[in-house]
Amino acid sequence: ATPTAVMVGTGVGATQGVLIKGGQALESAHKVNCIVFDKTGTLTFGKPVVVTTKVFKSMSLKDFYEFAAAAEVNSEHPIAKAIVEHAKKIIENEQNHPWPEAHDFVSVSGHGVKAIVGNKEIMVGNKKLMADNNIAISADAEEILAEAEGLAQTGIIVSLDGEVAGVLAVSDPLKPDAKQVISILSSMKIRSIMVTGDNWGTANSIARQAGIETVMAEAQPEVKVSKIKELQSCGYTVAMVGDGINDSPALVAADVGMAIGAGTDIAIEAADIVLMRSNLEDIIVAIDLANKTFSRIR
Ligand code: ADP
Ligand code: MG
Repeated sequence: ATPTAVMVGTGVGATQGVLIKGGQALESAHKVNCIVFDKTGTLTFGKPVVVTTKVFKSMSLKDFYEFAAAAEVNSEHPIAKAIVEHAKKIIENEQNHPWPEAHDFVSVSGHGVKAIVGNKEIMVGNKKLMADNNIAISADAEEILAEAEGLAQTGIIVSLDGEVAGVLAVSDPLKPDAKQVISILSSMKIRSIMVTGDNWGTANSIARQAGIETVMAEAQPEVKVSKIKELQSCGYTVAMVGDGINDSPALVAADVGMAIGAGTDIAIEAADIVLMRSNLEDIIVAIDLANKTFSRIR
């Protein structure tokens, strides 16, 4: 395509909320035949809400959420925000009453958080976080976690001083246009894959709802990158669509990185194309535009 055609293409994109950072991005988008999707915040809204709580220890629901919120208020993760919002409702923390102070806060990427609150060590996160810290999960807790996963929810465990204090489930529904977009991509001979840091149960349930057949779950940021490199070595031209800090290495590794506009600044910076309206349909708008730009002049 001529520089003018590229300018026109990027200009049209901009009017439709598709920010294309240069001609190379548009040219690669034209060749894409495989799209790797992040789950949370990309295929789903990324605004999870707490839907179930089960406290195991002889502890009140208020105390449970006070500990959980004290640790999670330090995290930017959408699940952390859901827990803090829910805690506010339970504790009626309207007047900005501060959460108990947390020390030694650690965010374990893709697993959860740890902190010292009062004199207790608290962890909030997935089974992997608990396993890595040798915290046993009871059959009762396992059952609630499995049930949540079957419903495409994410089960989260809260531990206090090395023992499970309770579990909760958050729900983050699929975006309504996801299924249709995957089906249109498939009719364009573009393969869709989901790669997520979330657990296999939840990941498979969401993928089924979206109509995505290939899933990789419990994937750390490096795993997202190596999956993209593997697809590229198989001859695919790969687009990655993501919203999080954890997606940014993959957005860079892909032939075309597409960031959800509502995502984190780091993802937006790492991407070649930004979907300002945060709709999945705009992936198709971007590819259509690339196809028009690069087939017109040949
Ligand atoms: P995704 O790739 O789906 O955006 P992440 O890699 O950010 O997911 O997180 C993977 C999983 O790690 C989450 O589903 C959750 O189980 C756990 N996790 C991460 N951060 C937190 C947190 N702040 N609180 C609780 N759990 C967390
Ligand atoms: Mg995400």
